[in-house]
Amino acid sequence: MVVFPLLAEPDAYRVMMIDLVDDAAARAYWLDVFANHLPSLVAHCAESDAVSPDAAERAEQVRRQFGAMIDTLRRDWGAYDDRVGPISILNICRLREQVLRAQGFDDPYRPIKQRENEAALQLLPALLDELDALDDRPRLEVVVTGIAAGNLFDLGAAGSYEQYQQNGFDFHATRRRVARPWRVDDVDALADRLLTRPPSRAMLLVDNAGADLVLGMLPLARELLARETEVILAANTAPSLNDITFDELGEVMDLARRIDPYLDRACAEGALTCVATGNDVPLIDFRQVSTEMAEAAAGVDLLVIEGMGRALESNYDARFTCDTLKIGMIKEGWVADVFDAAMYDVICRFEPV
Ligand code: MG
Repeated sequence: MVVFPLLAEPDAYRVMMIDLVDDAAARAYWLDVFANHLPSLVAHCAESDAVSPDAAERAEQVRRQFGAMIDTLRRDWGAYDDRVGPISILNICRLREQVLRAQGFDDPYRPIKQRENEAALQLLPALLDELDALDDRPRLEVVVTGIAAGNLFDLGAAGSYEQYQQNGFDFHATRRRVARPWRVDDVDALADRLLTRPPSRAMLLVDNAGADLVLGMLPLARELLARETEVILAANTAPSLNDITFDELGEVMDLARRIDPYLDRACAEGALTCVATGNDVPLIDFRQVSTEMAEAAAGVDLLVIEGMGRALESNYDARFTCDTLKIGMIKEGWVADVFDAAMYDVICRFEPV
């Protein structure tokens, strides 16, 4: 793992926007978030491995062990410093993954991700037709709104999880609800840049499976490709919640290529490629990325970081040596407060260098 070469001032880089070491209220809040999320995680563990006779027992172990870790952290927030580093949302996510792996659950959200990928791919042809009928600027606005809407498919946050459990995920209904202007809304500046001076090479860090990737980020990739921008899609190496992994991204791209001749040609010509970030949590520490991702960053003049975890809870004030878009929907009350925003508002920050 290496430092991401596009990170400006790596020595001054602060990963997390939310500090749990020096803020007892933040600590208490986020430990509750992890504790409240645990029952749904346990349920997905059992579902994902229903064929093994001991799945329920191992899922129960996940509940006990990770629950005990949360309780330990409430009393002694330095308890796992040796294991994962100082307490932070990112490091608690790492602990959770360790517990899951130790109990033999490599990817509890695999079935749900597959279902949502299939559902989103079914909607893709009509969405691409809709987009292709629009003029440049309105199309770009619809594309970016689709990214915001797709990012609601997030099974790590309580609000979006509950909505998903009750009603499933409806991309078009969500898109209608995420009306601009947003709390931070740099869509016009982004459109100006893309329409007048398209990047030569863009790296897109994708977040969740399903609509988030297929109906949100793939249309942006296609939009860039149409302007002769080379596009690299960067996805987590290891599974975490409902984030798309590098391997799954390959599966989705194989199917998307059959749907859209344009994406097919871009993949065949090498204009659209995929890379594994080396990351294994819903946030990202740009001091530890894969060498493949670091190498792929050569010549990148637009970086897109998508998702509440990677772009808002971490990295929002990180600076890079190229133009950067940070975009995500807010699905947690504490994050809303940090951004002085309402729940389900959107942050879309475009930072030219
Ligand atoms: Mg995610």
